Amino acid sequence: MTVSIETPLTIALSKGRIFKDTLPLLKQAGIEPLDDPETSRKLILDTSHPLVKFVLIRATDVPTYVQWGAADIGVAGKDVLMEHGGDGLYEPLDLRIARCRMMIAGRPGADTSARRLRIATKYVNAARAFFAARGQQVEVIKLYGSMELAPLVGLSDLIVDLVESGNTLKANGLIPLEHMHDISSRLVVNKASWKMKHATVQALVTALRDAVGD
Ligand code: ATP
Ligand code: MG
Repeated sequence: MTVSIETPLTIALSKGRIFKDTLPLLKQAGIEPLDDPETSRKLILDTSHPLVKFVLIRATDVPTYVQWGAADIGVAGKDVLMEHGGDGLYEPLDLRIARCRMMIAGRPGADTSARRLRIATKYVNAARAFFAARGQQVEVIKLYGSMELAPLVGLSDLIVDLVESGNTLKANGLIPLEHMHDISSRLVVNKASWKMKHATVQALVTALRDAVGD
């Protein structure tokens, strides 16, 4: 099915798994990139639809572009949206791609209910909210990657990270200790675009909902 697109539309995507998993869904809606982002260095890609373009940005920047209207629509992980806070965005559709779990992990036997734990993570807001909700005082240390290292060198007692197979944890002598959230990627829409480009945005949301099988 090809969606009826009547206004220019900019879609923000991040390279890697989100791009790979979103592509088949957009293809079902009749939208395909004209360049392969894995080989092209372009950050703006034209598509098979003359009014639609993709912008390729860091996963964590997608909500920002959409919030400020630099992109009308984007695809972002729930993890990223929890950190961003979701200001200025609608989140109309769970695309059910890039699925994983946000978990507390640490050395085998580590106690996640202990007092005054130190938690290293990229997901400081999600971690603070989770422990605060059960009245546990923790110290959260912000990291930007390689969280698995933190408990090994004594930076933290535990980490909060995304886990798919658990192999990365295992390779570093850590184990998942507690499930926090199920994570998948969501379609996000700029609030002004939602109103001003309503017919086009609705058509795309409907086509993607069909593609997801919702
Ligand atoms: P970078 O790896 O360049 O630092 P990133 O980690 O933000 O950037 P990706 O690794 O492509 O980018 O992750 C993008 C999104 O995919 C994440 O926000 C999350 O929603 C999801 N994701 C991350 N890790 C996994 C995983 N192991 N399994 C499934 N989905 C994941
Ligand atoms: Mg990554």
